[in-house]
Amino acid sequence: MTTTQPLELLAPLSGVLLALDSVPDPVFSSRLIGDGLCIDPTSQTLCAPLAGVISNIQDSGHAVSITNEHGVQVLLHIGLDTVSLAGKGFTRLVQEGQQVEAGQALIEFDADYVALNARSLLTLMLVVSGEPFTLLANGLVEMGQPLLQLSPASAVEAVDEEEGDALFSKPLTLPNANGLHARPAAVLAQAAKGFNASIYLHKQTQSANAKSLVAIMALQTVHGDTLQVSAAGADAEAAIKALVALLADGCGETVAAPAEVIEPASSTLLRGVCASPGSAFGQVVQVTEPALNITELGSGEAAERGALQRGLLAASEALQALQDKASGSAQAQIFRAHQELLEDPTLLEHAHDLLAQGKSAAFAWNGATLATVKLFQGLGNALIAERAADLADVGQRVLKLILGIQDSAWDLPERAVLIAEQLTPSQTASLDTRKVLGFVTVGGGATSHVAILARALGLPAICGVPLQVLSLANGKQVLLDADKGELHLDPDLAEIEQLETARQQHILRRQREVAQAALPATTRDGHHVDVSANVASLQEVEQSLTLGGEGVGLLRSEFLYLDRNRAPSPEEQAATYTEIARALGSERNLVVRTLDVGGDKPLAYVPMAAETNPFLGLRGIRLCLERPQLLREQFRAILASAGFARLHIMLPMVSLLSELHQARTILQEEALALGLTELPKLGIMIEVPSAALMADVFAPHVDFFSIGTNDLTQYTLAMDRDHPRLASQADSFHPAVLRLIATTVKAAHAHGKWVGVCGALASEALAVPVLLGLGVDELSVSVPLIPTIKATVRDLDLADCQIIARQVLGLEEAAQVREALRQYHAATVETSPVVEL
Ligand code: PEP
Ligand code: MG
Repeated sequence: MTTTQPLELLAPLSGVLLALDSVPDPVFSSRLIGDGLCIDPTSQTLCAPLAGVISNIQDSGHAVSITNEHGVQVLLHIGLDTVSLAGKGFTRLVQEGQQVEAGQALIEFDADYVALNARSLLTLMLVVSGEPFTLLANGLVEMGQPLLQLSPASAVEAVDEEEGDALFSKPLTLPNANGLHARPAAVLAQAAKGFNASIYLHKQTQSANAKSLVAIMALQTVHGDTLQVSAAGADAEAAIKALVALLADGCGETVAAPAEVIEPASSTLLRGVCASPGSAFGQVVQVTEPALNITELGSGEAAERGALQRGLLAASEALQALQDKASGSAQAQIFRAHQELLEDPTLLEHAHDLLAQGKSAAFAWNGATLATVKLFQGLGNALIAERAADLADVGQRVLKLILGIQDSAWDLPERAVLIAEQLTPSQTASLDTRKVLGFVTVGGGATSHVAILARALGLPAICGVPLQVLSLANGKQVLLDADKGELHLDPDLAEIEQLETARQQHILRRQREVAQAALPATTRDGHHVDVSANVASLQEVEQSLTLGGEGVGLLRSEFLYLDRNRAPSPEEQAATYTEIARALGSERNLVVRTLDVGGDKPLAYVPMAAETNPFLGLRGIRLCLERPQLLREQFRAILASAGFARLHIMLPMVSLLSELHQARTILQEEALALGLTELPKLGIMIEVPSAALMADVFAPHVDFFSIGTNDLTQYTLAMDRDHPRLASQADSFHPAVLRLIATTVKAAHAHGKWVGVCGALASEALAVPVLLGLGVDELSVSVPLIPTIKATVRDLDLADCQIIARQVLGLEEAAQVREALRQYHAATVETSPVVEL
């Protein structure tokens, strides 16, 4: 089955053409399914790139395959992980088996909905049948324009037709939540191709060639389907064994253990992740945003330009009012960042281009914001994807102002537990906390601005909850246990009481810790440890001081510059550091970490080439040494604050001694230029195993070390720190990470240098005994946790900590370490009485 003559495939959508390599999903970028290309769409109707028969269209409407008379098979897949939308946002216009013409509309999709609810809107066009092709276009493409030229294939893999005397597997239950959609189907087909036997997958009376991705998808399997594998040929037995095991394992997708899948509790318990701690018992209130009616055509460019201008101005004024109201708090910073987005040149340029094409102000603004939101979401980076939520929020704010829609406050009942697909930061900030007890969202993440606001408001919240939550009836009584990331749909009295008791205990303990926050963190046997703060703003520095912080152990300087589209001027940088140093005073440490951007944390105004492995690329000090001017300017600005606090400068991501030497030379030059006679203390972060393993080599050249356990864990265990499926395994309590901490401390102390820990491990009360026991001198922790960590230290004996530290270093895995520490914690810290104040 080969093509007989060259064939042109048309663009199925309008949009920006991207190489498959840039798709943040290895199944597509590795070409496991087939070679092809990717489009970041600007239109919302997927059309046929070639004439042929619809060989498969997924029930969920996110993917379709077309096969022509010569066997050329093309798969179109809208967005990434869109199968999880279960059809929402997609309208199928054709049916399986239907003959279609090139250019015929196949699927309509709501780009807005998909962009906001799936991982990405990047759309794939893959030549599954394997013909080689040449690209006919690049950059911006229009739907229907020729895109690929397929050459006649010389040898496309033969597809088995005959099954012969087949062996059959035992029936198995499909564990994948969304059936065998493109990704698991590709994994299965690839594995099947490794055997010579002809292999088929059976679902009731239907069968599919297991070596054909499209045939597997055409089975339209769903979670819980009973399947069988059959095979005929010399290696049939081995093939069945391997494929059955692969199917049971989820074909590359994480699947729940069978017992959990049918666990009755799943209907009474929904799980997400904690966005803001606490618990609440209240009634379900579903909140939805009404759809907005946007007319595409404008009534004259000048008039529409004026309308956009007025909308932007009104939005900026509203955001200013919100900032003034929340002055000095986390909310104020978020709304300032929103205001900055209104001035983003790329966004405005895009909107003005659309206005120049005769579109309305609402359409142009919406198009521009959605395209940028999609771009953010498609970068495959959780942090940036969360910033997309902010942009979507600003987009809606302006859009409503252009359309003249009043944002009426929600009319909420008492004791409301809000349920929403996603809340915007604006909605969250304006929640009436007298009525709202907490909220639950399908989208969002624990590091999103919505989560930060929820914490600031003291509202328990969980996010990332299954879509099913949106069908809960209004008024249903539910128990939100945000600490565990759980929503109990049918709570019994005992559960409610238990949670309420725990909540009361927690409140009392917290009150006691805050009341005693000014006390030093000294163990019962008299060992003092510094507890300082991890901060990203002056406000956080001020807050840390009220909560007993003894200095700043980590100023994440990149956060001063992340949410902006222009580089801060040298004067502005110097003023920021000086303000922070002044707030601390000359008796406290200020550890300023130099810019830790690059790769996963791009700065809008520092253009960087895309990298295949950004975490292993030009991050932190590597980027700064590539652009020494950036580092030079930052050193100069930091040095301006010398004298106001005990200034320390810290270099991130150091892996080579030469990096430290180069940075020190630049620092010395800048200090000399400023006429400073004394250099500030210079230290490095230990967050790469090479630095930890060679701490004895680094130690003579530094003034201090600070261990970044977040990165140290990801590089030691080779697990992406943002990987949703590795989250529970990428655990800083792993003995390998603890051993590197031990190595670092030993080397530092041998040279009379101090060691801090500023990664998230230091903010975990459970970790305090082991860190103290290993000899760590400073714990730099997230601001709200300062009182808790100090109180924990005061409940411990250093001698015991040393014993427990030695013990856990010998354990095999993180879970065992946690269990040992939990037992120790229960026997010491938690037994100390909770006093009502
Ligand atoms: C760390 O890696 O532990 C650290 C403190 O740095 P960041 O989390 O900012 O990368
Ligand atoms: Mg780090």
